[in-house]
Amino acid sequence: MKICRSIEEMRAACLDLRKAGKRLGFVPTMGALHDGHLSLVRAAKNSCDAVAVSIFVNPTQFGANEDLAEYPRTFDRDREMVEKEGIALLFAPSAKEMYPPGGTTWVTVEGLSEKLDGRSRPGHFRGVTTIIAKLFHIIEPDVAFFGQKDAAQVAVIRRMARNLNFAVEIVACPIVREPDGLAMSSRNRYLNPAQRKQALILHRSLMRVRELWKAGERNAAQLAATGKAEIKKESRVRLDYFEIVDPDTLDAVVTASDGTLVAVAAYVGSTRLIDNILLQST
Ligand code: AMP
Repeated sequence: MKICRSIEEMRAACLDLRKAGKRLGFVPTMGALHDGHLSLVRAAKNSCDAVAVSIFVNPTQFGANEDLAEYPRTFDRDREMVEKEGIALLFAPSAKEMYPPGGTTWVTVEGLSEKLDGRSRPGHFRGVTTIIAKLFHIIEPDVAFFGQKDAAQVAVIRRMARNLNFAVEIVACPIVREPDGLAMSSRNRYLNPAQRKQALILHRSLMRVRELWKAGERNAAQLAATGKAEIKKESRVRLDYFEIVDPDTLDAVVTASDGTLVAVAAYVGSTRLIDNILLQST
């Protein structure tokens, strides 16, 4: 596994792989890796000849009052984890390398970027799309892998890739969960044992909505009300949003149908967690 710290080195290494006729898969991450990240790496390994992973805690996607300084950084452990998966390239640039002075160009997907997490985290998706566009230009992957865990991010990136004609296929991979249902997240390590238990309410609320859906309820307002009521049962958890939306436009739907996205975000203590499901009739 080659570790690249500079853009120049990474660009050259990716070019070599593509020149050798390899189908290049790319998995962007912010590190503090867990099995959710590794599932993306494995999906990439399964369908590509060579895999590149990036580890970069992207400052521009954090708001002023968010956890950029505290965000876990576990590079040595991360490096070992991806090396074991047999990837070709690890790109781990510094913030200065990615954002030298004079960076005044942004990539913004208008509209979509203000929905779901974008509404609660102004500027977040602008940071995400800007860094992903930069990484796509440097790496030029054939396929890029993202987690369905960040469902709004998947919608925003797909739209950006289509609108800006990136020649990359976007693949969304299923959410990897802890045995008790909690969606894996680098931020779970912020939770103390009591909060770790409280955090289960996110998944439970989604399961409650799924049950109701399976019993035939199609009214989105009714489904959302049930999800919100479930979250309320955990008095220490503060709901940010509970929404029933179209997975591509992120607009609220009136009637839930096959493929509709049910998404929740909530604060457990000061930790903001997200989770979601796609409704399926089978
Ligand atoms: P992050 O390091 O949090 O930016 O995440 C990097 C990628 O891993 C994103 O595409 C996430 O959606 C994905 N990811 C994070 N957690 C999970 C999970 N529990 N299951 C599947 N993918 C995940």
